[in-house]
Amino acid sequence: MRFAAYSLLNTKMVSVFFHSRRICTFGLYYMENKTIARTLRLLGQLMELHEENPFKIKSIASAGFKIDKLPYPVSKKQLSEIETLEGIGKSTASKIWELLQTGKISEIEDFYASTPPGIIEILSIKGLGPKKVRIIWKDLAIENLGELFYACNENRLIEAKGFGLKTQEEIKKAIEFKIASNGRFLYAQTEEIAEYIYKQLKNIFPGSRVSTAGDYRRRCEIIDSLDFLTAVLPEYDVKNALSDIDSLTILSNSDKLIEAEHTTGLKLAFHFCSEDEFACELAFLTGSEKHTEELKARLKGSCSGLLSEADVYARAGLPFIEPELREGLNEFQWAEQGTLPELVKWDDLKGSLHNHSVWSDGVHTLEEMAVFCRDELQLQYLGICDHSKSAFYAKGLSEERVIAQQDEIDQLNEKLAGFRIFKGIESDILFDGSLDYPSEILARFDFVVASIHSVFKMNQEKATSRLISAIENPFTRILGHPTGRMLLTRNGYPVDFRKVIDACAANGVVIEINANPLRLDMDWRWHQYAIEKGVMLSINPDAHSNKGFYDTRYGILAARKGGVTAKDCLNALSAGEITNFFKLKR
Ligand SMILES: [Zn+2]
Ligand SMILES: [Zn+2]
Repeated sequence: MRFAAYSLLNTKMVSVFFHSRRICTFGLYYMENKTIARTLRLLGQLMELHEENPFKIKSIASAGFKIDKLPYPVSKKQLSEIETLEGIGKSTASKIWELLQTGKISEIEDFYASTPPGIIEILSIKGLGPKKVRIIWKDLAIENLGELFYACNENRLIEAKGFGLKTQEEIKKAIEFKIASNGRFLYAQTEEIAEYIYKQLKNIFPGSRVSTAGDYRRRCEIIDSLDFLTAVLPEYDVKNALSDIDSLTILSNSDKLIEAEHTTGLKLAFHFCSEDEFACELAFLTGSEKHTEELKARLKGSCSGLLSEADVYARAGLPFIEPELREGLNEFQWAEQGTLPELVKWDDLKGSLHNHSVWSDGVHTLEEMAVFCRDELQLQYLGICDHSKSAFYAKGLSEERVIAQQDEIDQLNEKLAGFRIFKGIESDILFDGSLDYPSEILARFDFVVASIHSVFKMNQEKATSRLISAIENPFTRILGHPTGRMLLTRNGYPVDFRKVIDACAANGVVIEINANPLRLDMDWRWHQYAIEKGVMLSINPDAHSNKGFYDTRYGILAARKGGVTAKDCLNALSAGEITNFFKLKR
């Protein structure tokens, strides 16, 4: 039986299924009326999702409602008795009988077989009925929670039939709630909480040194616990110190550590030490386990009375190591050799490549995007990469519209003299690895970002060869979000990164660090290999609105974790330099 699949819709139901006893009565399964009603409701939803006969849907739904209200258990009745119950026809009775006999309804099983599991999961979101889920599935080509979350973030739902800004916000909240229920958070989701708590600590302990620590300070892409370190006088009793911070529930407290949970479900750990121990403790609480172990070994037990982390590393005979790098990978070797990378920062970036406008699924016009980049972000150029024609759900550009958009860009480049818009495209990589325009169209762009947006079900061999075909296409300049992952909600397709990076090196293709906090793809763990092979990286916000440009920040944090410097970044090139770069034949 497919308990797991049913469980997506209602976990309570599962426990009832498991506790069904094969005893007694006429049906083989004892089942509460509630469970039967719930199963019928599920069947009704699935029928609606698949646009079955509305009369049948109605009768199933009303049968479920009636059974829920019955004062006696239906599972103690014979089939002939169920058939004569008011409001339950012969056909529904036979489904109930099947459920009681076998623990399942084959029609539900059939629907499951023809519905992506992600759609079943989306059906369980509060406030999303089958009609809306069908639009999401069929019209927006979304097949799982991660894609739906991403689409909400990109305002893609607003324009769909029967949706609106309010519904989109509700869906987004419901998904965030679902993700948070696992206790895991995207880095970006924790930032506001971290800043708020930091301020509270500064208020509670005026004049004390306070810092974030742990995974958060290392800018890990996923946060399971938010750590803080505060210096307090040794005699200070910290046990009740945090009870005034609203939004927090204290889980445990001791002399040096208070554990708490935020209203969102995020776990927090508050560490306390004396002023004297602060620098050492901060270093120990920030590094990964492996890093800290090595640091402690190098300190040979002597670590106190130091003023700053720089002093701590100096005592270990090393230069200061940036928190992002403290993962226990190459950082000690670099530090020893004096080759620690000078990590890329916001000011190093001179332009923004891979962004969307109203021409496809963005919310701002080309001009609005360009002016924002120029005036708000002080950038020299903007790369526009709207979706290509296969991305029908995102208003991908037909050949005619490509030409029309490029005319508009030419006019804007004249109007905005001094600022430059580059003509790009985010061209879909089709299943066979080809791009979805003929060469004469591809040749019109300043640069092409090639990305996979459909058919994610691939083994590693297929995914790798699909990417490599796209990399070998002479028009491809940048490989977009290489695994298609949506952090916490969808694993990417499996990729042999060595082969993909080697192919990029051989073909002069740049790899994107997609800065959307849900993606951060390519993963920072592969940045060094790319750099070693001489492959450039591009920190791309994939902005779908002006606000989206600010996601660049998360891409920078990921790049810093990967040890990326400005000279490894394509978009750290000036407008003049990148013009020449784009002109070079691959
Ligand atoms: Zn994309
Ligand atoms: Zn994009």
